[in-house]
Amino acid sequence: MSALPPGSTIGILGGGQLGRMLAMSAAQLGYRCHIFAPERDSVAAEVCASFTNAGWHDSEALIDFARDCDVITYEFENVPVGPLEKLPQERLAPGPRALEVAQDRVREKRFVQDAGGTPADFVAIDHDSELADAVLRIGVPGILKTRRDGYDGKGQWAINERADAQGIRIPESGCVYEARLNFECEFSVILVRGRDGEVRFWDSTRNRHDDGILAHSELPAPAIVHTQLERARGMARKVADALGYVGVLTLEFFATANGPIFNEMAPRVHNSGHWTIEGARTSQFENHIRAICGLPLGATDSLAKTIVMDNLIGKQALDLAGHLADPRAHVHLYGKSEARAGRKMGHITRVG
Ligand code: ATP
Ligand code: MG
Repeated sequence: MSALPPGSTIGILGGGQLGRMLAMSAAQLGYRCHIFAPERDSVAAEVCASFTNAGWHDSEALIDFARDCDVITYEFENVPVGPLEKLPQERLAPGPRALEVAQDRVREKRFVQDAGGTPADFVAIDHDSELADAVLRIGVPGILKTRRDGYDGKGQWAINERADAQGIRIPESGCVYEARLNFECEFSVILVRGRDGEVRFWDSTRNRHDDGILAHSELPAPAIVHTQLERARGMARKVADALGYVGVLTLEFFATANGPIFNEMAPRVHNSGHWTIEGARTSQFENHIRAICGLPLGATDSLAKTIVMDNLIGKQALDLAGHLADPRAHVHLYGKSEARAGRKMGHITRVG
């Protein structure tokens, strides 16, 4: 595909804040965006030229949407893959195989193992009757996770002793039971891969989660991350190459005494990369747009040694005037009307 000229239309599947920030970067480069999302309230659609509000399985709406789009990407990794088969495949970036792999925790772990990576010890579980045996094999403590549709720590059960597994019903789409790791910290590798296969990495932040939700990312990451980065990046590059990936791809890792342990991947821009908007030469959002449009990739180096990003979550009070008075602070609010517990409402990046 030759480069898409500015003025072309980028379709985005999903209507949340990631789509909003992608669209804002696209607009900067002169593209128009069209959101497709099942929710009527879309904070992405609010900043886009067009909005199709329809269900993922509404093929007619999806085909109409695709007719308006020169390229189609995702801001949500759980878009059902089946209906996408009816769309012109060369227009999808990244290809739907990346979604297929990332939507299933078992496939994802096996895929990364095949690329030479190491996930936590795990067992796939299809039926209630297999759970006790899985817990026995992997041991405690462990975490039971649904194979599909988990995000922000949802669909997970902590198993601290064997009895905790009693009475848990395994959903039809299955679960994975994995060892709970002792890690020094969590970090993510965020890369962009162009249509020509060129790969660039951003610096890796240390990520802190509260109740399974990313709360804070910061640079510089501790020394252990630096010693494990080469291996983690090598792994991420192999995964991206194997998928023929186009766009931004994120792999989450635990830095452990036994090296980098893979947690999960996201075939999209990632919350732990929001700092790149002001903290890197080219943000993850702009480089994703550049990659899918076939433009040259931008430099990914950081603009300061110390950069921190804090999420604004749920009903947490915001001292807006205070943050706006801080010359290092960049406030991002996603425009969500209702502050539910655990909902990502915005973030603040401090550079330097
Ligand atoms: P998100 O959408 O926020 O990435 P998720 O619902 O996909 O989350 P995971 O990334 O699997 O869930 O887990 C959320 C967090 O729970 C991790 O970032 C980590 O802090 C903790 N966690 C998950 N798996 C393990 C593990 N095997 N050992 C220790 N901690 C873990
Ligand atoms: Mg995660």
